[in-house]
Amino acid sequence: MLDLVLKGAHLATCDGAGSAAEQLDRRPDAAVGVEGGRVVWIGPSAEAPAAREVRELEGAALLPGLVDPHTHLVFAGSRVEEFTRRMGGEDYRTIAAEGGGIASTVRATRAASEEQLFALAKARAEALRARGVTSVEVKSGYGLTTESELRLLRVARRLEAEGVLRVTTSFLGAHAVPPEKRGERARYVDEVVGEQLPAVAEAGLADAVDVYCDDGAFTLEETRRILEAAKARGLKVRAHVGQFADLGGPALLAELGGLSGDHLEAIDEAGLSAMAEAGVVAVLLPGAWRTLRQEAPRAERFRAAGVPMAVGTDLNPGTSPTTDLPLCAALAVRDAGMTVEEALLGVTRVAARAAGFEEGVGRVRVGGPADLAAFPVQDPRALPYALGGLGASLVVRAGAIVAEGPPAPVF
Ligand SMILES: [Zn+2]
Repeated sequence: MLDLVLKGAHLATCDGAGSAAEQLDRRPDAAVGVEGGRVVWIGPSAEAPAAREVRELEGAALLPGLVDPHTHLVFAGSRVEEFTRRMGGEDYRTIAAEGGGIASTVRATRAASEEQLFALAKARAEALRARGVTSVEVKSGYGLTTESELRLLRVARRLEAEGVLRVTTSFLGAHAVPPEKRGERARYVDEVVGEQLPAVAEAGLADAVDVYCDDGAFTLEETRRILEAAKARGLKVRAHVGQFADLGGPALLAELGGLSGDHLEAIDEAGLSAMAEAGVVAVLLPGAWRTLRQEAPRAERFRAAGVPMAVGTDLNPGTSPTTDLPLCAALAVRDAGMTVEEALLGVTRVAARAAGFEEGVGRVRVGGPADLAAFPVQDPRALPYALGGLGASLVVRAGAIVAEGPPAPVF
């Protein structure tokens, strides 16, 4: 007798081999059996084993719990004022130079208590989960002092400890130079490498280290110094690269064996081939290119070069205030030219690889974690077809039903 069986599903395991459509591995009228938090059986509904709890999904799409490979979800404060100015035509970097942008979120985040930050982060994590997300990468980067960065990473870890989502963390002390150290970037990088990173690593609060390597952010040499220090401490590395200019960040990530290069609107050919050769995942962030009114990266370039593509929300208050990962997949199809199958793999198995999760996350496979999301549509390909607004009707995390939404079909 199993713990749980979901039957009558239009399942996409995302665990196949071959073309993108074969990797998606759609199986109409399938059932999934769960025991002890793991998937133990996959097959036709008619042959489903007995279970203590059986859910009939009536043809609904069933996928692995979605994976968001890039979020900044621990922060306080709103950037609606800045958004209004930018949409009125003012430049993001001009506003940032005046102490707006990331610096304004840093001030609000530092002023919040750890309990307040946790309550805000939990609400955002639950909003992601309502969209079918069960695993998420969470960055720090709105504290920018040792103690405040530790606080943000503790909040991220607590989201997993309290069973909200599966979480990997990235220390992003090199997100921006903090307002009180404006004009002292070299000294701030010394602090990130010499104080913040050792404290974070010793506390065991980061799985990876991230750097914002771009025009107006950190240079290639500063990025190299920080990521090499991370690797020396046994941490994984990733970076925000090529959002405005390719400073050589993608090639550096390839050299260092990075998990992912994120943004990539401006990546050059050398960066693309280096990422392909080293197996670094490209994380595309439609919320950011939409909000910044940028040209989307071209999926055909990544496909031709052989760079795997994931899609994230980039959930953050400045450039991507969204928790709707299926909407981001839908925009990646329409703006960047990803196929529907690539977009689905990009928010499941490829995203899991980018985020550095254990083998089996982002896939439905026997022996893998029982993280599953059902949606009120009859075909898994309707996730990127729907242009936003699609919520999960049932979410299972580590074998337990953690969220149930409206079951009514919408398309
Ligand atoms: Zn980001």
